[in-house]
Amino acid sequence: MRLFLIFLLFASLCSAPIAFGDDNMPSVATKNQNVPWMKDATDKVKGELLAKYSAGQSARIDRGLSQVAQFWRNEDGDAASFQEFIVENFAGDPATLATLFNRFQHLLEHLNGHMQEISREFRQQADLDLGPVLPFDELFAGYDPSAHVVDDFFNNKLAFVVLLNFPLTTLQQRLAQGPTWTRQQWAEVRLAQTFSKRIPASVNLDVARAGSEADSYISQYNIWMFHVLAQNGQRLFPPKLRLLSHWNLRDEIKADYADAQNGLAKQRTIQLVMERIITQTIPAAVINNPEVDWNPWTNEVTPAAQRDTDPPPSPQKQITNAAEPSTRYVTLLKTYRAAREVDPFSPTAPTLIARRFDEDREIPEQRVRQMLQQVVTSPLVPKIAKLIQARLGRPLEPFDLWYDGFRARGAYTEAQLDAIVSKRYPTAEAYKKDIPNILMKFGFTPEKAQYLADNIVVDPARGSGHAMGASMRSAKTHLRTRVESTGMNYKGFNIAVHEMGHNVEQTFSLNEMDYTLLEGVPNTAFTEALAMILQGHDLEVLGLAKPDEQTETLRTLNDFWNTYEISGVALVDMDVWHWMYDHPNATPEQLRDATVAIAKEIWNQYYAPVFGKTDVVLLAIYSHMIDSFLYLPDYPIGHLIGVQVEEQMKKAGAIGPEFERMATMGHVTPDMWMIHATGKPVGAEALLTATEQALTRLNAAK
Ligand SMILES: [Zn+2]
Repeated sequence: MRLFLIFLLFASLCSAPIAFGDDNMPSVATKNQNVPWMKDATDKVKGELLAKYSAGQSARIDRGLSQVAQFWRNEDGDAASFQEFIVENFAGDPATLATLFNRFQHLLEHLNGHMQEISREFRQQADLDLGPVLPFDELFAGYDPSAHVVDDFFNNKLAFVVLLNFPLTTLQQRLAQGPTWTRQQWAEVRLAQTFSKRIPASVNLDVARAGSEADSYISQYNIWMFHVLAQNGQRLFPPKLRLLSHWNLRDEIKADYADAQNGLAKQRTIQLVMERIITQTIPAAVINNPEVDWNPWTNEVTPAAQRDTDPPPSPQKQITNAAEPSTRYVTLLKTYRAAREVDPFSPTAPTLIARRFDEDREIPEQRVRQMLQQVVTSPLVPKIAKLIQARLGRPLEPFDLWYDGFRARGAYTEAQLDAIVSKRYPTAEAYKKDIPNILMKFGFTPEKAQYLADNIVVDPARGSGHAMGASMRSAKTHLRTRVESTGMNYKGFNIAVHEMGHNVEQTFSLNEMDYTLLEGVPNTAFTEALAMILQGHDLEVLGLAKPDEQTETLRTLNDFWNTYEISGVALVDMDVWHWMYDHPNATPEQLRDATVAIAKEIWNQYYAPVFGKTDVVLLAIYSHMIDSFLYLPDYPIGHLIGVQVEEQMKKAGAIGPEFERMATMGHVTPDMWMIHATGKPVGAEALLTATEQALTRLNAAK
């Protein structure tokens, strides 16, 4: 829903002078080969504009014409209407340009804000605990009123008005020149960026179709564990345990550390299951099928000797051990081919890889790669590996990527916490009333706390809870929280504090922003980092002791190990997408072999020295690799950003004013945001330093 909303917001405070004339704003050279008269028409209309305005406008005229020309299609009009449009809509004097900017900012805020309000209302029955959800409620919830706004704006030519007058930019330009731009210039850049692509509806449909096909492949990829046998043929797992790849398989490995008797055998078996999924040597008959027993060690498949679920109406699959026919890679290839269809319509980011790094993340791929390599090659890795080995009392095995033992026992049991929370917050209303008080405990002044509380509507969530921001200043943010009939429990409270962190960020980053076109934060990692700051102090809100040093130390080590794991996963995802772009006609089998080779290569380089085993393919197990279009690097970047923000908060003391200072920077590049917030660009140093200190503390405590 925020696809369009993300760049757009409101005006009124924009009193700064508009950058004008031959400014230092960039231009992106382009050409449109589909419209044969375009070259002549632009030459002609340029002469007309130069005659009308001063020669100082020449560069702006060139830029505007080239930006419009590259998106103009035959159906938008002939040469005469093109020229007429240009002459009418080029803002050739400062006053007109200022009016144009302000009007767009104001109206887009209202467009986005009202679209958001419609979506929120349409989703109400699905999102809130308000009684049964009828089938048509689901249809309302699935409707996105803003889905065609960008198309509409090209069709009615408002997009061309923007492209004629404001600069499109590449990431390199935003990084190199962005720090010297005024806030006004940044707002202009974000305005133009909204229209940096004109993707035909049929292409969007292909992308959506490939995405949903991949989703449905992934969402039905269950392994029935009672039917997965150990090396010796024994049943290790309880009846009815159905694990979705990869999430549940990975989490089962984590949980198995607590099983002293069978944990290790279970973990080894799950590792093998994962490997067979990646290499596609898994028998097709065992996927989502409780009717067969499977020994992944021998790959033998037999009719289930014991039943743990009701029999299906008809037998699902033939009982053979024929391998899954590379469906995993068929599916991934389809997402790649759909993504590639967008390329010609996205001149400033002409590959999916560029769109992910240059547009969504706004950190160049090369820098992300360096940060991840800095983590996986850190000398801290073997030290922590040694520590894990000592805690496990055995050499590491590859599945120890998901080691889950850096946890301290809290001072309070969950039951004690539940009792405290349910007494304090018997209803959602009680929590709502306490919001100003909670916020003051985070160091917000009474006035600020009240102002924030007044901007948060508390609703009863159907699920565990979420936050929904507003997109115009006249609307409020919504906190959805779950309160049982017996009162709020601790888990619900912990989530509510996290979501309230989002509400606070959303309020600051919209209502206190100088330009609503700069609303928000650079990307979701930033809003998550801020929300987690509040969540991490939830015990203090309850008047309880904050976690002790030991807990903090273990949490840091856990965070480091998770980042080490997911960095390798992200590197595999990145290399696989490059491979697909380098081999556009690859078969699924070639993609399978390439993925396996890439996973082994990254393992051998960064993990084998630590785990003492080569050629492991586990880094390729994440389902996101198949259905999420190069999403995985967001996870390690998110860890790094989270630690950076957290370390800054520790230095600052009171959270409130620091939170506000950070959250009002808006949607600039991650590095600009982070330099403003912490003095340093986004990077791995904060995590590495915190981990080093945690290790020192741990050794000192021994
Ligand atoms: Zn969150």
